[in-house]
Amino acid sequence: MLYPGYRIRLLLHDKSITSKFSSIIIQARQDSLLKSYILKKTKWSELEFNKVDWPSHERAFRKLTHHLQISAAKLLHNLVNTNRQNYFYYQQSPLCPGCSQSEETLEHVLTCNWPAIKEFWTQQPTLLSNQLLSICTPTPVHEAISQGFQDWLFPPAMRSKSPVYGSLHGPDIILTSAYYEQFHQLGWFQFFLGRSSTLWSKAVEAYLSDRHTPLDTAQWSSQLVTILWAFTRNLWQHQNKIVHGSTIEEAVCLQMATLHDKVRHHFAAFVENPSYVLQRHQFLFTQKPLEARLKMSYDSFQCWICSVDEARQVLQYHDAHLLQSSVPFFQSFHNPTATHLQDHSISSDSTYDPSTHLTSDSLTLYTEHTATTQDATTISGTLLDDDSISTHSSATVVLNGYFTPDSFPS
Ligand SMILES: [Zn+2]
Repeated sequence: MLYPGYRIRLLLHDKSITSKFSSIIIQARQDSLLKSYILKKTKWSELEFNKVDWPSHERAFRKLTHHLQISAAKLLHNLVNTNRQNYFYYQQSPLCPGCSQSEETLEHVLTCNWPAIKEFWTQQPTLLSNQLLSICTPTPVHEAISQGFQDWLFPPAMRSKSPVYGSLHGPDIILTSAYYEQFHQLGWFQFFLGRSSTLWSKAVEAYLSDRHTPLDTAQWSSQLVTILWAFTRNLWQHQNKIVHGSTIEEAVCLQMATLHDKVRHHFAAFVENPSYVLQRHQFLFTQKPLEARLKMSYDSFQCWICSVDEARQVLQYHDAHLLQSSVPFFQSFHNPTATHLQDHSISSDSTYDPSTHLTSDSLTLYTEHTATTQDATTISGTLLDDDSISTHSSATVVLNGYFTPDSFPS
């Protein structure tokens, strides 16, 4: 509705905006996008989203320095670099570098069973307790928060409940609701990210209502968020120090150790199976022995590992192409009435040496059957003329699978 004299009126949340139009419109637009993003990531409903104490969250964020705001935003929106990201962007292992049992996400970092992390964790409840006490947190609220951390890390057999569950005392009822809402609806991991229920400050207010100088609960809430962020950031940084080293020298040593492991892994795989790469790439392993490779510089390590990775990809492409080419090649055997073997081509590696890759079994089986039919002889001639057969290749699996007495065409 327009009042008399208004040509246009800007409303936001049913309030009339009379100044700072551009910044308010931009802010409203960003808020809406951010809300959609958070709802998508947390899988919250609109109702759950509105249970979070966002004003305290914002106040805490504004109090941070610019540098801390950036690191807090990265933590909050799961933008910190974990192996889950490395897997998506660089095809590295997504596993946690500590326990190697679960995908490394921020949530996993906070719950990892790696002894170095767990040891650090054991010191944290005391630190957190001291910080909660320093902002005048009432004891029952403090105990409920401590229990929430405990139950989240070590889930109890029964449903997690507030320490004052069942009490009919007014503040206890509010605290039980706050605990339930945070633990079972919003999620305790979100508490780590400073997304706390609005009921926490109501519980604090109820416990402290008889104080002569009532606590500013809005301030308490934003201080709680600041404490939680610092707590999460500490754990994250601690894990990074363990994985990447706390000094530049340690970081370099750790990176070199990782590269050494990769080089050793590739060499061991090559020794076990020379078809680990195509013959034309085997110089990567034969040009210098492992001991000499391990003395290379950091850059040379990186280049060599990239070359081996590329050689592995070429081999995979080669195998896939062979497999694809072999399908039409054998179709006439699976369907004897079909047209006889068509013109076919099998990709071959000009430097491939079949004699080093064929197992005696597959060769014997192959030769035995090819001597009995014209079609198979044709195949035999073609394949034997072509140096493309590899026991490493999946195409050979097709060959072996096909040339069994039962499936052989009559
Ligand atoms: Zn782990």
